[in-house]
Amino acid sequence: MSSNFPDNTISLPFAKVVLASGNLKKIDEFKTLFSTSNQIIPQPQLGIESIDETGLSFIENALLKARHAAKESGLPAFADDSGLVVEALDGAPGIFSARYAGPSATDLDNCQKLLKALEPASNRSAFFHATIAFVEHAKDPDPIIAQGRWHGEILKSPRGQGGFGYDPLFYIHDVKMSAAELSASEKNQRSHRGQAIRALIQQLNLRFSA
Ligand code: IMP
Repeated sequence: MSSNFPDNTISLPFAKVVLASGNLKKIDEFKTLFSTSNQIIPQPQLGIESIDETGLSFIENALLKARHAAKESGLPAFADDSGLVVEALDGAPGIFSARYAGPSATDLDNCQKLLKALEPASNRSAFFHATIAFVEHAKDPDPIIAQGRWHGEILKSPRGQGGFGYDPLFYIHDVKMSAAELSASEKNQRSHRGQAIRALIQQLNLRFSA
């Protein structure tokens, strides 16, 4: 997979780093960021199960996941947490974005629930948020936290075939398209996750480059 992110040859002073995710898309995305001297190991490969996301915010959940992966593996760890924040719904679905319509909800279920919840609303402003946390060890008192926000508006019906999650309902004013109508690289240039990854790389460089 080619990376749409700059400086994707960053080298960390660790031979192995755990990624607290089993999501193949995220694993690929992270792997493209680091030099071959850094082995990025998805936590399921080490038999590490995911932890309950009991935090009240993206940052708390990202840190919980990173600390858990570091504790179980004895290695440095990355974790990310993201979701959609809708103004008229007091920030919902927020940290519950993946399971908004129930524990085994599909993207379609979640989008349908969102459309219904917004029927009476005149304000359809929303943003996607992403936090990435990096800890050198489970008790690291100085984690690296990188974040991104992407503003848009919730459409009244889906548009586009690309992306995932709430992308078909997320309208971006400057390009007059939904996130599902953007190519992967156009999305990465603008998205909350793209912003968070660029911020992460900057901070890793500041901390670890010689
Ligand atoms: P997670 O980061 O995998 O926990 O994602 C949480 C949920 O937020 C996803 O399952 C999607 O429903 C939603 N989400 C996060 N990022 C995006 C995005 O880029 N597009 C659409 N939905 C997203």
